[in-house]
Amino acid sequence: MQYRTFPKIPGLKVSALGLGMMRLPTVEGDQGRIDEERALDIVRAALDAGVNYIDTAWSYHNGESERFTGRALRSLGAREKVYVATKAPIWHIDKRGDWDRYLDEQLERLQDAHIDFYLVHALSAPRWETFLRTGGIEALQAAKADGRIKHVGFSFHDSLSAFKTIVDGWDGWEFCQVQYNYVDEDYQAGAEGIEYASAKGLGVIVMEPLRGGALAKVPDEVKAIFASWGKPRMAAEWALRHVLDRQDVVTTLSGMGSVDQLWENAAVASAAGMNAITAGERAVLDCARAWFLERMAVPCTTCGYCKPCPSGVAIPEIFELWNTVTVFGDRTGRSSWYKSAYASKGNGADACTECGACLPKCPQGIAIPDRLREALLALT
Ligand code: SF4
Ligand code: SF4
Repeated sequence: MQYRTFPKIPGLKVSALGLGMMRLPTVEGDQGRIDEERALDIVRAALDAGVNYIDTAWSYHNGESERFTGRALRSLGAREKVYVATKAPIWHIDKRGDWDRYLDEQLERLQDAHIDFYLVHALSAPRWETFLRTGGIEALQAAKADGRIKHVGFSFHDSLSAFKTIVDGWDGWEFCQVQYNYVDEDYQAGAEGIEYASAKGLGVIVMEPLRGGALAKVPDEVKAIFASWGKPRMAAEWALRHVLDRQDVVTTLSGMGSVDQLWENAAVASAAGMNAITAGERAVLDCARAWFLERMAVPCTTCGYCKPCPSGVAIPEIFELWNTVTVFGDRTGRSSWYKSAYASKGNGADACTECGACLPKCPQGIAIPDRLREALLALT
């Protein structure tokens, strides 16, 4: 296994592949019922492969992921061999005391006295406001001072400008976690965000290197693009190498659903170098990326300039879901997500009154109200 370090945490070495605990095998597809025998095999294999970073969250597997992580590490006697990361559910936090309440319950779930890497989960522009209003900085400083957490960071889903605001908003951040893969170079924080955070001294953790598994099972046309390189290489390996090639990425997380996947990805993480991708390989990746981007329904870069919509329509989020469904199909349940996260809260495409306020703000010149009508049809 290859190990890398965080700029602000010298001496601490983290495996280039981290184990995500959000897509563990389940019983009868019930997210709240982890298939513990199979999941334990994956954790054991990860440890055998040299993985020493395990990433869970309050919300994964309906709250069972943290509990399973605690049980698994104890039963394997492995707590001291790994760094455990988990995340504060900021959407449940409304006042200063909530930070301690959730953290203490997370420690209980994990059967632990401390958490190595504690992230504020899925920060965005509005959640950054919540973070400041509820005393997030003071709460995290206090938890660090009394030893309940060792290192502090955030995971992120919003526009690049919101990302920069958050990076610059507190000098206590030691790391951040962003979505990044060869298709999403310019999506959310994107490559520019990674460079920005790294220049400010933050260690960068990448999530979704395989875009929820979609980049491991690519269409035949993309397989043909990869085959044009001349040497056999799995689609997942192309995607992982693309991320690990960056020297500003400390580790990349993957939610591996089987022991075989774990060993395949661990082999790539051991072999992948930094700045090692050749011009020929880069051309192949660019071609695969172009194939995906050309098939997107709408050229939205999720920059967020069109926000806020006076009617509350979640414009970039809806376009992102629509693009994902168009290009990758609905394997990851984006339509259900649209309904539960946006439509049911009045932020769906049907809330658009066609006022036109967003139109001059979009650098891509997207006819937003028209395209929202199409997105509505595709997502419902
Ligand atoms: S046209 Fe629709 S999406 Fe755009 S600002 Fe007006 S209500 Fe919002
Ligand atoms: S619709 Fe336009 S302004 Fe809004 S996020 Fe997408 S690209 Fe940016």
